[in-house]
Amino acid sequence: MDRMLREIEHSSSIARTTDYQLKLYCGITFIDSLEENQRESGNLISRASLALERIIHTHVQTIRFFDTKMHQREKLEDYIEGHMEQALKDGEFRLFLQPKKNIQRGTLAGAEALVRWKKEDGRMIFPDQFIPLFENNGFCTVLDLYMVEQACRQIRSWMERGITPVPISVNQSKLLFYEPEYVQKLVDLTDRYQISPKMIILEILEGMALENVEELNKKVALLQEKGFRVSLDDFGSGYSSLNTLARLHINELKLDRGFLMNMSLEDQERGTLIIKKVIQMAKDLDISVVAEGVETPEDQELLRALQCDIGQGYLYSKPVEAEEFDEKFMIVKASEKEEN
Ligand code: C2E
Ligand code: MG
Ligand code: MG
Repeated sequence: MDRMLREIEHSSSIARTTDYQLKLYCGITFIDSLEENQRESGNLISRASLALERIIHTHVQTIRFFDTKMHQREKLEDYIEGHMEQALKDGEFRLFLQPKKNIQRGTLAGAEALVRWKKEDGRMIFPDQFIPLFENNGFCTVLDLYMVEQACRQIRSWMERGITPVPISVNQSKLLFYEPEYVQKLVDLTDRYQISPKMIILEILEGMALENVEELNKKVALLQEKGFRVSLDDFGSGYSSLNTLARLHINELKLDRGFLMNMSLEDQERGTLIIKKVIQMAKDLDISVVAEGVETPEDQELLRALQCDIGQGYLYSKPVEAEEFDEKFMIVKASEKEEN
């Protein structure tokens, strides 16, 4: 096919008589049967056109096959990028909270804010589907700050209702973290809602620590000076090293779910030993340790034995809307009050 396109390009009269270069593109779709051909002839052309649309005017690819899954993903991506601003205005980005539990004492230690895009029709889009896109188009800087604001608002609401607040962790993208006005914007938010910056924990990804530890430490120090706490998320999912951990001045370390999963594999002893050492080292550095993906009572027992402070995972709760979080974890039930 490629050869055919090149031959047409070179033998056309335009290519021979002018300086313009002719470039041909080709979208292709397959049919599974003759009946499908008769039934779906219009559809087939539009599928081939869709494949074509994606490569036209590019220089790297001239032939593309239609792929249903890819097409659906691209349709969703188009929807996301086309609707993100309006969705933010309409309040479709919702604050979901997942509890962080103190494993040793069984008490609530805090909550992580996880964004959900709840569309008008009630359907939900999950962060894995839009956060990578927003990191590319820059919208994450707006959304992440919005989520910090939602967290501040939630803490204020607890205070106003006489409920003792717990700290909320908010995921922060690299693009926002290195914005020059970042620290001031956060201070403005905590001032506006009159909450202590101590109640906000900023989660950053371990990848950021690999690039430039000095620069990262500078920003972390600025944030800590104002009272915010900084947590390193997904530790152990990438190229994390104990050396990086030792050099980073963070307040909290979140062990990736993969750590717990590895412990149940054949190399259990080695996996457990590694996690034990990481927890020990973090503690020596005055860093609290949170284990992600605590799904079973066995996970919890193991972590308790390893002296891990905090756990987060489906064993306690999946992320839920703020109202449900309040009911389940914040509002002490009348019967419990009587017991105390
Ligand atoms: P993360 O920050 O590491 O959040 C933990 C993810 O693990 C969440 O997925 C949570 O629902 C899921 N999880 C919690 N407990 C368990 C468990 O026991 N088992 C399993 N299998 N999964 C568990 P979610 O909410 O889909 O978020 C995915 C990622 O998207 C987050 O990973 C975070 O990196 C990113 N994200 C979420 N909200 C935001 C946001 O507001 N801003 C930015 N920049 N990123 C966000
Ligand atoms: Mg996180
Ligand atoms: Mg994580």
